[in-house]
Amino acid sequence: MRCTFPHMGTMYVAVESLLEGLGHEVIVPPPITERTIELGQHGAPETACLPLKINLGNYIEAMENGADVILMGGGVGPCRFGYYAEVQREILKDAGYDFDMMVLEPPKGQLSLAWQRFKPLLTKVSLSETLAAARLAWAKAQIVDDIEKMTHQVRAFETVRGSATAARSKAIAKLRQTKHRQNLPQLLEEIGTLFQQVPVDLQRQPVVIGLVGEIYVMLEPFANRQLERLLGEMGVLVRRSSFLSDWLRGQFYSLLRFDMQKKARLLAGPYLPHFVGGHGLESVADSVNYANNRVDGIIHVAPFTCMPEIVAQSILPKVSADFDVPIMTLVVDEHSAEAGIITRLEAFTDMVKRRRTGRA
Ligand code: SF4
Repeated sequence: MRCTFPHMGTMYVAVESLLEGLGHEVIVPPPITERTIELGQHGAPETACLPLKINLGNYIEAMENGADVILMGGGVGPCRFGYYAEVQREILKDAGYDFDMMVLEPPKGQLSLAWQRFKPLLTKVSLSETLAAARLAWAKAQIVDDIEKMTHQVRAFETVRGSATAARSKAIAKLRQTKHRQNLPQLLEEIGTLFQQVPVDLQRQPVVIGLVGEIYVMLEPFANRQLERLLGEMGVLVRRSSFLSDWLRGQFYSLLRFDMQKKARLLAGPYLPHFVGGHGLESVADSVNYANNRVDGIIHVAPFTCMPEIVAQSILPKVSADFDVPIMTLVVDEHSAEAGIITRLEAFTDMVKRRRTGRA
């Protein structure tokens, strides 16, 4: 059993660690490139959302490297994610690939059902080794989020373009190599030093832009065409509304039937009083939250044809008007090019900077 799974930003660091700790051979898909998207879009319906196509490309590239079991999350609610695994399985089987797919669906409180689903992954090592693997993976998920936050913070002040990005890459590589929890405190110190070594100009007063939107395209830099890096290198202090550990926590708590959307419903309530699937409700709630916290602008990022985000997009102009905060929606698909995105980001950040200068 050689396991693989789809990429979603830095998720591979935690998932690889977990699966190795559970005694499985892991084939991490190669980093996403244009080839990945080409492979994925080949068999996918044209109007399928971008994450589905990238996932397919990840699986194909991982199978080329020897993977024979695909782990995929399942979903519930009014969006296409619930069908993803089945659709992907059929597309790959039709194309002649030989593999098993394990769908890890949230069982909505039915713990016996959860056990049945996860059992094939949990029988190779002892209970104490399983717990150790889970604790290490969870710690890594939190540390990759800390690395992302440090990168956002430092990049807006860096004086040598790309130095924060280089520190981020080194930090993630070091984290990936760490196999024991007891080594993490030392590693955290080393990561802190890496970012302290980035040359910065602390006299700058960067504009602050909050990112909201669909979780996959927010977390996966290839899908959003390096949105955070581009903004940071334009001198913007980026705030992102959701991180890997938030998403994992939500998945875990859904097993226990905890209501993870209470706060989002309260914030979004005056604009959107109910769940619309995916992260549509959170996009509205996070925008209201950022507006309350006086960010200079908000960018809403969404995959082309994403139904929940289309709902959010139709509501955000009202949030923008009520709070007097600029909000731009950036829709991405497999045809999006970095040059076009740079043009839109430059126009938006120039406008946001002028607004702030005019208010000073
Ligand atoms: S949230 Fe949007 S992009 Fe994600 S699966 Fe649902 S429709 Fe597709």
